[in-house]
This record gives sequence, structure tokens and C-alpha cells, in this order.
Amino acid sequence: MDKEYKFKGLREKLVKELRKKGISDEQVLFAMEKVKRHLFVDELIQESAYEDRALPILLNQTISQPYTVAFQTQLLEVKKGLRVLEIGLGSGYQAAVLCEMGAIVFSVERLKELALLTKERLKNLVYDVQIKIGDGTLGWQTFAPYDRILVTAASPQVPETLLKQLIIGGILVIPVGDRDTQKMYKVIKTHENTYETQIFDDFKFVPLIGDKGWKE
Ligand code: SAH
Repeated sequence: MDKEYKFKGLREKLVKELRKKGISDEQVLFAMEKVKRHLFVDELIQESAYEDRALPILLNQTISQPYTVAFQTQLLEVKKGLRVLEIGLGSGYQAAVLCEMGAIVFSVERLKELALLTKERLKNLVYDVQIKIGDGTLGWQTFAPYDRILVTAASPQVPETLLKQLIIGGILVIPVGDRDTQKMYKVIKTHENTYETQIFDDFKFVPLIGDKGWKE
């Protein structure tokens, strides 16, 4: 059977599974049915790309589990034309999902080698993502403010710097906890210095390393 055809079937199956697990945002499901996750992992593990689990990428990092990507993206309430800052580009899969939803995507990655490889991948797949190599716990002031900020690594706290770079009415989604497990936080900036925080289930991310994150 043609490989691309087989993967398309596996993507449809994955989306059904995500629906069963409680993901209901049609835009999220639509985007995840479109993005070819197998092109964001090493060729040797492509066969596993549509299982609902995290997979290894370069330099001890991971591409998040599809359910985690769907859960975070759903909390983010992405709409076409919104400016979204991602912290932790990794493989670029999450950024591609945001692009498919019509967002204008900015992403920061601290590991240069990974960022350069992913930049090339996204370019080849014609996903337009602005990429910065650096410490994302400081955000990306150049293009601030953002409508949404999504952190895809585990943080010990909610970095003040990121909240400052949100518009009023903007949303920050970030896993907060210790190095082993984190709770998903959705922080809504209601006024200049007022925030409303909702706390969701447990997740496990690789550590956010930087000035407002963990020490290396
Ligand atoms: N969103 C990614 C998942 C990435 S895993 C995907 O879809 O594949 C988390 C990523 O965050 C790793 O690549 C790690 O290097 C990066 N990271 C960790 N601390 C960071 C920081 N302070 N700034 C930017 N990126 C960081």
C-alpha cells in the first residue's frame, strides 16, 4: 500500500481517538488530521508517528504526545489571524498545527542545532514560522504583544515576562510543576495586571531551561 495513503488513514484514526479522549475543538482536530506528524520524526520511527504518545527527537528532546498537543491547542482558543508565540519549537509539529489553524506563528527554541534543522523542515513543508534561537522564558519582545502564548516545556512557575508580552484578553497556556509532573495552567490576562488562572490535569514535559525556568 502507498505509504502516504496508509499514514492518512492512521491520522484519521488518531483524530477519532482524540475525540474519544475528550478533544472537541473541530479546528484543532481538523489541523491534526492535516499535519503529517511522520515528517516531524526520524525516518526510523515514522511507523509510530500516529500512536498517541511522545516520541524522541534530537538532543534528548521529545515531540509531545498528540493528545497533549490537542489539549494545549484547545485551551489556547486559536482563531485565524491570531498572533501566537510558542516557547519550545522542538520538532516544529505544534507550530505546524497552529499554522494549519490560520495563526501567525512565532517560536523560540534554545537548542541551536534543533532550531536550524526544524527551520529547514518547516520551510520545506511551506509552514511559515518566525523562529528565534534563545531563551524563551524571556519571551520574544521584538514582536510583542501576542494574542496567545504557548509553552511546550515544563516550567517551575508562570514567567512574569511572558504575561507582560500578552495583549489584554490574551491567553497563556503553560505546564507548571516540578521536573517530574506538571499541571496544565490556562492564564487569561483580564486587565493590565490582573490574571485569571484555570488549572487542569497532570502532564509530563521536558524541562524549560532558562532564566525564569530550571537551571541546566
Ligand atoms: N513543541 C515541540 C515540543 C518540544 S519539547 C514539538 O511540537 O515538537 C520542548 C522544547 O523546548 C525542546 O526542544 C527544548 O529544547 C525547548 N526548550 C527548553 N527550554 C527552553 C527555553 N528556555 N527556551 C526555548 N526553548 C526551550
